[in-house]
Amino acid sequence: MRALAIDLGGSHANCGIVEERAILANDAIAVDCAEGLRPLLPLIVDTFDQLAKRTKLSLADCKGVAVGFPGLVDARVGRVLSTNAKYEDAPKVDFAAWGREALGLPLRIENDARMALLGECYAGAAMGVTEVVMMTLGTGIGGVAMIEGRLLRGKHAQAGCLGGHFPILFTGRCCTCGAIGCAEAEAAGWSLPLILREWPGASGSTLSKYQKVGFKELFEEAAAGDEVALAVRDRCLSVWCADAIALVHAYDPEVIVIGGGVMKSAANIIPIIQSHVRKHAWTPWGKVQVRAAELGNDAALLGAVPLLSEKLD
Ligand SMILES: [Zn+2]
Repeated sequence: MRALAIDLGGSHANCGIVEERAILANDAIAVDCAEGLRPLLPLIVDTFDQLAKRTKLSLADCKGVAVGFPGLVDARVGRVLSTNAKYEDAPKVDFAAWGREALGLPLRIENDARMALLGECYAGAAMGVTEVVMMTLGTGIGGVAMIEGRLLRGKHAQAGCLGGHFPILFTGRCCTCGAIGCAEAEAAGWSLPLILREWPGASGSTLSKYQKVGFKELFEEAAAGDEVALAVRDRCLSVWCADAIALVHAYDPEVIVIGGGVMKSAANIIPIIQSHVRKHAWTPWGKVQVRAAELGNDAALLGAVPLLSEKLD
């Protein structure tokens, strides 16, 4: 199957033409998600026209469009249900009508982390595995689940996709979702500066030379021996370990795939989460494997074919 795929992120919209497990061509458009989705839709159509020219295909050669969206999505009705400060106008967009009118194709939309999990199961780190959870460690934390080869969705379409919002610390900070002490409120790109602001001795840390500290800087300065960076890094690892256990206990996976921008430091992260899960998860049937994601930013695009092929209830 050949398909169009869109992965809507906070800073880029990645558009691609995919054929089975291959991306034939793709382009990322810089976006300002605070401006909403509607101004972006014509740019996406232009990008697909250019990609079609580049690959000498016509859009009619594709079977459909798959959209990965960073928010709560009900794939069964093709609607965005709720956003979290990204593309606030999306719940009002009739995606199926847009796909039909602007691209001449049927369209499906799904949560972006679920799309990435579909991609990793179809063409990446979890090929052939039917019981999988995926954690995506980046600006936020994605935590999604597949059980018996099917994405977990639930009545309100929010089952199995809020693993980054498992409360890890009941005395923790308020999360953007409204809960307290969520994994991503305690150890994600957006909360890292807030954690550092409150950290004792942070002003004397080498991290204070950076205007904005992300995980890249945190891991680099920790490796260089900065005490604050080491302590904050270890605290983040502990949060991710706790979240991994919660995902195992909630969804009964055999494999945890870990992806996201932080995985540039995968060598530091995977063994720690693996050993924590081996030691602390209650899985009398065996041991859950922890694997690094293989597809990087391509994961959601490669989720297009499985999403379009899925029999939706
Ligand atoms: Zn939350």
